[in-house]
Amino acid sequence: MLLRAEDVQMDFGGFRALSGASLDIAQGEIIGLIGPNGAGKSTFFNCLVGDLTPSGGRVLLNEHDVTRATPEAHARLGIGRSFQVPATFEDLTILENVMVGAFLRHARVREARAQAQRVLELTGLDALADHKAKSLGTPGRKRLEIARVLATEPKLMLLDEALAGLTPVEVQQAIELVRRIHRSGITLVIVEHVMEVILTLAERVVVFNQGKVIARGTPAEVVNDEAVIDAYLGHSHARRHGKHA
Ligand code: ADP
Ligand code: MG
Repeated sequence: MLLRAEDVQMDFGGFRALSGASLDIAQGEIIGLIGPNGAGKSTFFNCLVGDLTPSGGRVLLNEHDVTRATPEAHARLGIGRSFQVPATFEDLTILENVMVGAFLRHARVREARAQAQRVLELTGLDALADHKAKSLGTPGRKRLEIARVLATEPKLMLLDEALAGLTPVEVQQAIELVRRIHRSGITLVIVEHVMEVILTLAERVVVFNQGKVIARGTPAEVVNDEAVIDAYLGHSHARRHGKHA
């Protein structure tokens, strides 16, 4: 397994945001992670990348126990995540923002710049390399957030609502980008509310509700699952997408 999360628990004071969340991720997968707001999806990502230390359970990355490791150690072992609210340096150029990620594995400026340039080409941002980050609109910001993570050369990428706020055409372009990233050999876990994205991209879907996994299976299986319909999708969605997904 590339990543194994065993019974991960996260308490915030007296509130249990995650109560026994488990997930195995094999090399090469694209997994969709869905569930209502507040279900614990971002908290789970935070526990997987070391931004939070779980209150219980274990996280193994490439057979290393990283449950209590720093975010930097996680990144070095090859896990990267995008933030729901992008962590952008507004006054740096787009190239410089991506170089910040590239410095994880390239100490020399010239090598970090070359790595960042490769990532800008992959993400379609190369023409904007010298623009300030603050000049970007929503689709560009989403791409930059993905590029910043790609620059760290992850084996496993966690995308937290990386496509939220895009128009339908921009969503299609972003889906193409995610496919390109996957073809380049990166394993992906995608949190997304636009079910179209999940149904198009994910081979396997895991559903969170109230800090627990309530269903897992193929996209077709989970959209027809009564517990998932009740907790998240609602019955109108199931009628529209369920039976032919
Ligand atoms: P999702 O990403 O599925 O919408 P989150 O993981 O952001 O859900 O949140 C899960 C629950 O944990 C929510 O009730 C949220 O308010 C709570 N929560 C998240 N982070 C914190 C925190 N740092 N301190 C206290 N409560 C938190
Ligand atoms: Mg979230």
